[in-house]
Amino acid sequence: GLFRSEFIYLGREDYPTEEEQFEIYKEVLSRMGGKKVIIRTLDIGADKQVDYFDLPREENPAMGYRAIRICLTRRDVFKTQLRAILRASAFGTVSIMFPMIISVREVRDAKEILEECRAELKAQGVPMGEVEIGVMIETPAAALTADLLAKEAAFFSIGTNDLTQYTIAVDRGNAKVEKLYTALHPAVLRSIRNVIQAGREAGIPVGMCGESAADPALIPLLLHFGLDEFSVSASSVLATRKTISEWSGEQAAQLTEQAMALATPDEVGACLHGQVKA
Ligand code: PEP
Ligand code: MG
Repeated sequence: GLFRSEFIYLGREDYPTEEEQFEIYKEVLSRMGGKKVIIRTLDIGADKQVDYFDLPREENPAMGYRAIRICLTRRDVFKTQLRAILRASAFGTVSIMFPMIISVREVRDAKEILEECRAELKAQGVPMGEVEIGVMIETPAAALTADLLAKEAAFFSIGTNDLTQYTIAVDRGNAKVEKLYTALHPAVLRSIRNVIQAGREAGIPVGMCGESAADPALIPLLLHFGLDEFSVSASSVLATRKTISEWSGEQAAQLTEQAMALATPDEVGACLHGQVKA
């Protein structure tokens, strides 16, 4: 559901080459035996710093030069990654998704660079498979324009870790405001609901790859909203499947109606946690 490709870039002295990345993606795809792997393109900056990128110190890095913003201005770095993914696409089923999108412009630009890479590889006779393009919905701008973004994407993946921080303006890494940081805030729930609805209306699948996908309190709501895919860490897969299997459509609908009528995160929390099945 989410291959965080920045881990290839972290903890090393210099940029990973196209060849190094190709070998890593190829191995993952080969091992998955044809099952789909969603690779998220480089998402550094803010909480993920990499020295050799020589990024400037910023007053407000979470809203600064990061993720797709770096990729669209450092085309050399972006193209190296995209070429490696395209080459690996011959060895399995891969989708690409772009992080921190705030506008259709960025999606179009990223797709154009991808097509440029594809054309170059094709001219070199390199075999490639089909690659679907998805958009991460993790900014309020993306959530509010999901209907527009849906026209540019084959799928959405809601990144609730960032969507929560930006929607309620609470730093996800700041212990001082830790108590305020919750996806059970009515604003976040409404945002998630609207994104899933926009995806459904456009006929594209909507997944969730933030931590909330594995939150048993939230799962009945996500089911009722119509979430198509839950992307969770390996250690949460079984528990998440179990929770999903325990909810009937009718029960999930009832609980969702109750929870969505509540006004504060603590009321929502009390309502949902009271319903978590043992
Ligand atoms: C998210 O923001 O929800 C997400 C999945 O990405 P990350 O946690 O890596 O920012
Ligand atoms: Mg994120």
